[in-house]
Amino acid sequence: MVQYRILKTGFFEADGGAMFGAIPKRAWKRMYEADNEGICLLAMNCLLVWNEKRVVLLDTGIGVKNLGKLSYYHFQHLEELTDLIRLQGFEPEQVTDVVLSHLHFDHCGACTYTRDEKLNITFPEARHWVSKTQWDNYMNPNELEIHSFRQQDMIPVWKAGLVERIDGDYELFEGFNLSLFDGHTKGQIVSFIELGNKEILLFPGDVIPTKANFSDSWISAYDIEPLESLAAKKTIKEWTGGKYVKYIFYHDAYEPEAILLQ
Ligand SMILES: [Zn+2]
Repeated sequence: MVQYRILKTGFFEADGGAMFGAIPKRAWKRMYEADNEGICLLAMNCLLVWNEKRVVLLDTGIGVKNLGKLSYYHFQHLEELTDLIRLQGFEPEQVTDVVLSHLHFDHCGACTYTRDEKLNITFPEARHWVSKTQWDNYMNPNELEIHSFRQQDMIPVWKAGLVERIDGDYELFEGFNLSLFDGHTKGQIVSFIELGNKEILLFPGDVIPTKANFSDSWISAYDIEPLESLAAKKTIKEWTGGKYVKYIFYHDAYEPEAILLQ
């Protein structure tokens, strides 16, 4: 039987206008809290999913290393991911798979950590799943995304032979399916996990970063291909039509989990 737990790794700040793109502040402020300057608190809600054989981590948060250059984001209340995993009864070495929705630093930063100024791999026994398109983007970033990627987060993992790149939809194991979507960035992995009783656990990453972004047209201005974001949301809703879907919203500081009937 599959079990899961949300791991709240910390928060940072982002401009609400950017998070909700063309939606007027009057409208989005009713759906997501902001301060007087329109700054929103965003979370980094990772997900740990396990059964008898596998321990799967979905995204890692920013981690705690080398945050000086990123002070603009005001990272706060950061937790050590490995501490949160130990609280669930697992050692980092027991994590079998790390599924990375994409490789922006707020999603894969904790794949490595520093000790004595050396970079180390956090989950040395895990296969780290990423799409081939996203990997190519990471290695050769476009001008809009270049500051969202850090080589220090994934290159050591790659050198250790722990990166698995998928080219299309992929079944991680029975009832745990990965699908690829463009929009926010190219080749994002969205995870669909069957919980039984027609219930699905869905981890959309930044395809739907907060519950307020659930409406098709509430698209972040950070997305490099907004029309693809729109199409991705429609597809996800079509695929899960008629089912109860338990969404995990990675960036939602207030409602990380919501059950929505499609
Ligand atoms: Zn993000």
